[in-house]
Amino acid sequence: MTGTPDFLQEAQKIKDEIIQLRRTIHQHPELGQTETETQKLVEAYLRKLGITTRRIAGTGVLGLLEGGKPGTTVGLRADMDALKIQERTGVPYASRRPGIMHACGHDCHTAGLLGAAKLLAAAKADVPGNVKFFFQPDEEGSGGAAPMIAAGGLENPQVTAMFGAHVNSGIPAGYVGMRPGKYYAASNPFDITIRGVGAHGAHPDLGVDAIAVACQAVGALQLCISRETDPVDAALISVCTFHAGNQRNALADEAVLTGIIRTLDPKTRIKTVAAVRRIVDGIAGSFGATAEINIHEGYPGLINDPAMTELARRSVGALLGEDKLFPITQPSLGTEDFGIFLEHVKGCFYQIGVANPAKTPTVSLHNSEFNVDEDALPILSAAHSQVAWDYLLSAI
Ligand SMILES: [Zn+2]
Ligand SMILES: [Zn+2]
Repeated sequence: MTGTPDFLQEAQKIKDEIIQLRRTIHQHPELGQTETETQKLVEAYLRKLGITTRRIAGTGVLGLLEGGKPGTTVGLRADMDALKIQERTGVPYASRRPGIMHACGHDCHTAGLLGAAKLLAAAKADVPGNVKFFFQPDEEGSGGAAPMIAAGGLENPQVTAMFGAHVNSGIPAGYVGMRPGKYYAASNPFDITIRGVGAHGAHPDLGVDAIAVACQAVGALQLCISRETDPVDAALISVCTFHAGNQRNALADEAVLTGIIRTLDPKTRIKTVAAVRRIVDGIAGSFGATAEINIHEGYPGLINDPAMTELARRSVGALLGEDKLFPITQPSLGTEDFGIFLEHVKGCFYQIGVANPAKTPTVSLHNSEFNVDEDALPILSAAHSQVAWDYLLSAI
């Protein structure tokens, strides 16, 4: 074979195999950092294709396909972990593990990337460079991208661009969504403890009521968004737990709040984190309480490189037809640790439509009834292959 293969046609030929891979993974979901069976399945499949593999970041797998022609190295990434959700789809290939389910479609990502590995391996002699396959653990937990990078995943050979994709139940199957620039949010989870002074409920003057102070702080944090954040930027502060007090007639001496800060713009992230500290500290101090504030570094934002997004858009447009490109007009305040790869190399994270109400209920990711139109799986494999191929060609 010479020239660019017809990846869509080739993917359709192995559609049943990709679906079977997905169903096998779907039946045996594994939580982050415990993806040992998935790891073995991925390794075995890649090795059969003649792709060298290396275990990385605990339960991750890095595959390397060395093309027959000289060129640079492109990375393709799939995440492999499942969620603590009891599946309620009722399909015959439903999870066999109580309380664990692939409700975020990472089974599709893994099977789709294995399909891409097969398509690219079949064209190995003509591949103009190398393709590295990143099978990443633990996207839903503490993150698998950073450990893969720390273990040298992007080096030897050096990856110069990365692409990844997520299934999307808001996009019809057959369509692919792209968005350049800011796409997913940065996350800063926080734990705050406000300490007052306990007293009899009938004598608030003798204590410092931690609940009253914490309520002021929660309200003021919302003012931080409405009054200190650029109205056309997006940021949020959600206080999601509030625990205080254990006696009806005693002032709470402590209130514990947890929640998240989400921001799209890196500068807004720094500003909002500082504002949360300033506001909570200030309010606590003004009422004679103290605040212990721990704000953690969650995932960074995901920012798609405009040139790489355009490359992916053209690739997928040529593969499926321009009319199958789904415009994504709004960013998301969700998170995705693929953004960590994009802090190191240029690239693009895009969306594979999987919605088809005629086949499966359209529910959101992380829902116990989540399922996909499996006709989208060969599209995922073909899109990954085409985008990788076109990037390698563009870099010669
Ligand atoms: Zn998820
Ligand atoms: Zn996900």
